Amino acid sequence: MSVVLERMAENLINKINYINISNDKHTLFEWTKFRTSQSYILDLNQIRKNEVENVYFHIEKSDMKIAYIRKENLIYLVSAQKILQYQILEAILDQINSKFHETFDLDVIMSYSSVSSSAFKHFKHVIENDILNDFHKHDLIKDLLVYCKTCKKSFHLFIKKNEIEHQKTFPVPIVYRHEGHALICFIDKNFVLRGTKFVRITG
Ligand SMILES: [Zn+2]
Repeated sequence: MSVVLERMAENLINKINYINISNDKHTLFEWTKFRTSQSYILDLNQIRKNEVENVYFHIEKSDMKIAYIRKENLIYLVSAQKILQYQILEAILDQINSKFHETFDLDVIMSYSSVSSSAFKHFKHVIENDILNDFHKHDLIKDLLVYCKTCKKSFHLFIKKNEIEHQKTFPVPIVYRHEGHALICFIDKNFVLRGTKFVRITG
């Protein structure tokens, strides 16, 4: 693991604002650093309306970023400091999803007519120890150095390993948004950067 990535993963827990696992109606589990704010509740309500499954969504806020994904009626959400790149947040979401299924017999628990969030209380330890503290041990991320001709400087790009490994065609295009513009980076199956291109954005 690179020194920069190691530094990024260090004290990861301090860079996370909140983690939430919910279904369409209510929260099953949450981990928060701060007292839950009104904007947090509004974000959650908005996110629950999005019915698209198996796609990572990103929300950029002035002071934080949010990544979430809906998988089999559950919505996994993480909010973090802006310093963490989205692929790191997505890797955290992947871990939360797999550990949540590993830890609980969800088919049984979810079949009860009312599910109390206390059923999932001890997932806090899994989040803090297995997922956040041991993040670097799972070796989920590759660190690539990318030179941007517009900025005239190099950046560390953090890419989820399974994002590349699961692809069928190479190189894989990854858009790196930074400083108000974007660079498209082409990455081959050995995680080698094959080239970059300035890309125009709309939307
Ligand atoms: Zn740039």
